[in-house]
Amino acid sequence: MLVDAKEMLNKALSGHYGIPQFNINNLEWTKSVLSACEEEKSPVILGVSEGAGKYMCGFETVSAMVRAMDKALGITVPVALHLDHGTYDGCYRCIRAGFTSIMFDGSHYPIEENVEKTRELVKAAHEAGLSIEAEVGAIGGEEDGVIGMGECADPEECKRIADLGVDFLAAGIGNIHGIYPPDWKGLSFETLAAIKERIGELPLVLHGGSGIPDEQIEKAIRLGVSKINVNTELQLVFAAATRKYIEEGLDKKGKGYDPRKLLKPGAEAIVEECKNRIAVFGSKNKA
Ligand SMILES: [Zn+2]
Repeated sequence: MLVDAKEMLNKALSGHYGIPQFNINNLEWTKSVLSACEEEKSPVILGVSEGAGKYMCGFETVSAMVRAMDKALGITVPVALHLDHGTYDGCYRCIRAGFTSIMFDGSHYPIEENVEKTRELVKAAHEAGLSIEAEVGAIGGEEDGVIGMGECADPEECKRIADLGVDFLAAGIGNIHGIYPPDWKGLSFETLAAIKERIGELPLVLHGGSGIPDEQIEKAIRLGVSKINVNTELQLVFAAATRKYIEEGLDKKGKGYDPRKLLKPGAEAIVEECKNRIAVFGSKNKA
C-alpha cells in the first residue's frame, strides 16, 4: 500500500518508536525490504538516492517497479516511496514520477536560499499529495560523492525550516553517512534536545543510522527522532553473505552460478538485518 510518509511518522512520534527508511538499490533489495516489513508488520519508507535512481534507470522505472512489486507481493503495510537527499530538480522529477514522498536537501545552500527553495518545494509537494523532508546542517560522511562535515544543526535555522510546513526534518546531531570512524564522538543529545524544544511536534529524521550503537538510537527515539535511515548496514550484510557464498565455492557447485542462487544469501541477509533494525526501532506490529 503506497502512501505518503506524514501519517506514519506522526504516529511514530506520538507512539515513541521509529520508522525505518531502508534505501533500495535494485530489485532484490526492494523485494527483501518489502518482505521483511510485511512479515514484521512494520510501516516502511523506501529511500532512493539520486545515484540509486540513476542506476535503476530513472525514477519512473523505480516507481513502476515498486508499485508493481507492492501489488504482486500483496503488501499490506504502509509503504512510502521517498527521494533521499534530493536536489531541486530531482524533487520535481520524483513528483512527476509518482513518488509519494521527497526529501529536499538544501543544507549546502546558504540558509536564505535553503529557506526559499524549501518553501517552494513544500508547496509543490503538498499540491501533488506528497510528504516532504528538509535538511538543516549537513550530515557528515559521503553521500553520492558529496562530503559533509558532520556539523550540528543550529536550532534557530531548524525552526525557520520547520515553520515552512515541512512534514519531517533532518538535522545534523553529529551523525554521519557510511561507516563510523573509531574516534567518533557519538550523537549530540544536547543538540537534539535544543532542536526539539524549538520545533515542537515535528518528527525528526536521523540520517546515517547504520553503525550508531543501539542504545544511542533508542535514546534519540525517546527524544523525538521518528525516522532512522539505514543504507550502509544492508550493503555490508549483502556483501558479506555474497562473499561467503563465493569463498565457499558454492557458485561452482551444480548451477550455483545462477543469479537467483548467487544473490539469494545476500537477499536473505538483508531480510534478517531489516528485522533486526525493526526490533531496535520498535516499529514491529505498528502497521
Ligand atoms: Zn542521509
